[in-house]
Amino acid sequence: MSVNHLEFDEDGLIPAIIQDIETNEVLMMAYMNQESLENTIKSGRTCFWSRSRDELWWKGETSGNIQEVEEIKYDCDGDTLLLKVKQTGGACHTGHKSCFYRGIERDYDTEKEFDPEEVYNNLDAEILDELYQVIKDRKENPKPDSYTSSLYEKGENAFLKKVGEEATEVVMAAKDSDQGELIYESADLIYHLLVALVYYDVEIEEILKELKERR
Ligand code: AMP
Ligand code: ZN
Ligand code: ZN
Ligand code: ZN
Repeated sequence: MSVNHLEFDEDGLIPAIIQDIETNEVLMMAYMNQESLENTIKSGRTCFWSRSRDELWWKGETSGNIQEVEEIKYDCDGDTLLLKVKQTGGACHTGHKSCFYRGIERDYDTEKEFDPEEVYNNLDAEILDELYQVIKDRKENPKPDSYTSSLYEKGENAFLKKVGEEATEVVMAAKDSDQGELIYESADLIYHLLVALVYYDVEIEEILKELKERR
């Protein structure tokens, strides 16, 4: 293996683009260092370097969503890797197949100015979508210490009761004029509502559509 042809950056890292060998979809990007690359070559499974945790990271070590490496390529100047893999489950920790499930909306026809504010607004709303996907994943692939999975295990009555309780707590926080508490309880309510929506197969888009139509 010509690891010598590779250009690791000043931190000893090189970006690795991960692509689905069957669909060609770009799944994710993460960094490798020399050791994680060697691990990947030897084992045939992806191993990265986590910059946030500052440690070797075997993809799938907690989620089980491993990547079997079929091909490793590097680009013209040797500063980027491309790995084609067979992906188990989703590559993204949000439950999406690919990390690139969001887009920056831009109207190219009108040459509208790029508005960063708009991007941030979109990102804010995306957290609902992201949370929805994680909840869905916890329903479909139950995890032992997941609160969400345990709600689904207990059944319909468990989370519907929580929706009622959290709604009451929102009312109480509002009556106390406790803004911090109101935020906290509202988040609880929205989370439990999402658990119910996933259960009944109602997509967030359908609710947003309904709200828009009422305006
Ligand atoms: P996993 O390697 O899938 O077991 O996930 C372990 C941890 O790695 C997760 O809790 C995330 O913090 C992180 N992680 C997993 N997949 C990704 C990804 N595609 N992009 C960024 N971070 C990830
Ligand atoms: Zn080139
Ligand atoms: Zn390059
Ligand atoms: Zn991701």
